[in-house]
Amino acid sequence: MARDQLAVAARYLNLDEGLHEVLSRPKRQIIVNFPVVMDNGEVQVYEGYRVQHNTSRGPTKGGIRYHPDVDVDETTALAMWMTWKCAVVNIPYGGAKGSVKVDTKLLSKRELEKLTRRFASEINIIVGERSDIPAPDIGTNAQVMAWIMDTFSMQSGYTMPGVVTGKPIEMGGSQGRVEATGRGVVVAAGEAARMIGMDFNGARVVVQGFGNVGSIAARLAEEAGAIVVGVSDARGAIYNPKGLPIAELYSKYAGRDGGIIEYPDCEKITNEELLALDCDMLFPSAIAAQITAENAGNVKAKLVVEGANGPTTPDADHILSDKGIMVVPDVLANAGGVVVSYFEWVQDLQNFFWEEDEVNKKLERIMKHSFAQVYATMQQHKTDMRTAAYIIGVKRVADATVMRGIFP
Ligand code: NAD
Repeated sequence: MARDQLAVAARYLNLDEGLHEVLSRPKRQIIVNFPVVMDNGEVQVYEGYRVQHNTSRGPTKGGIRYHPDVDVDETTALAMWMTWKCAVVNIPYGGAKGSVKVDTKLLSKRELEKLTRRFASEINIIVGERSDIPAPDIGTNAQVMAWIMDTFSMQSGYTMPGVVTGKPIEMGGSQGRVEATGRGVVVAAGEAARMIGMDFNGARVVVQGFGNVGSIAARLAEEAGAIVVGVSDARGAIYNPKGLPIAELYSKYAGRDGGIIEYPDCEKITNEELLALDCDMLFPSAIAAQITAENAGNVKAKLVVEGANGPTTPDADHILSDKGIMVVPDVLANAGGVVVSYFEWVQDLQNFFWEEDEVNKKLERIMKHSFAQVYATMQQHKTDMRTAAYIIGVKRVADATVMRGIFP
């Protein structure tokens, strides 16, 4: 899928064949097998990966995922997508991704720490604050980043905050990082609404997923005057055409045993029904492949803003496009997270930290500027926003590669 998407952009750009070949492959992939002594004294061997896709525009950047289903090919595709995402919002990074094949639910906290520190040691031959900077992804969090930062610091003999982002604020994390992805989604939604002449104030919003991205996007959309009529998590979905109280859902229901479906003043529906609700904007912010050829025909939103990575399948993209529904693609819509990760890294390297307001203003400026560029490219090439975003991202990386030349 990642290579097919690159091929589409390459056709628009009339990309040289050799250059296309360079961009279609990862620069480096490492596979590590490493032992961890479990709490019961037994030794368990884990497999992990770190893939760097492209370094033409700067050091590589990308999350570390802990999940039982990861493999080196998926990690490589995710690294390539990170390259385009960083280029679309024009931050000076290439893409990377890391993963460990593990079910974290089966580990104690001590085992998780040992696995993390050993994995960090195994990949330190290619990871570093000037070469490749990991961040959290599925199954990892700020605590895991703190352990990685400490492992690199112990091995180098000095504190090295810039080696990972998404750290706790107390040890070099950035203000605004936790909210950054959801904030970026709402800025992108605001810009898209303006383009199609939709009033954000009073617009009815549906959010799939009520985790970091979805819950913050819902809260900020509500603060900006929208009415959030439907939300969901892995357990189910809820709907109230008069609007749902997002702050209350977050503080009293999310993350608790029953989850948001315990909230009483609403209609309980399925996640499938949620995607088909009558609304103005839909933010799929949970997992991949949710809007598919089977259900895309039922989507009634005028605007789909992708908080999640890959929530719309290529077949569904065509159906939405035929229905005149505008899709703001993941590489643009959810790039707020990597933008503020970049801010975190810059602050760490300078040991000079910014106020939250400054972080948010800079993020908003980048999101609006990037949106305008993608929108203009879409009109110029008479295509959809996803293809336009790829055209921009691939062109920036291709240009940097040509300008640098091939060594030696
Ligand atoms: P999260 O784990 O905090 O939240 C995920 C939410 O989705 C949870 O509420 C979960 O219950 C819900 N969910 C899971 N399966 C579901 C299903 N089948 N139907 C409905 N809801 C379901 O994760 P997150 O950090 O919010 O990430 C969400 C998505 O956004 C992922 O695709 C992630 O790759 C992407 N993303 C996240 C960031 C970030 O900074 N957190 C940045 C860019 C992209």
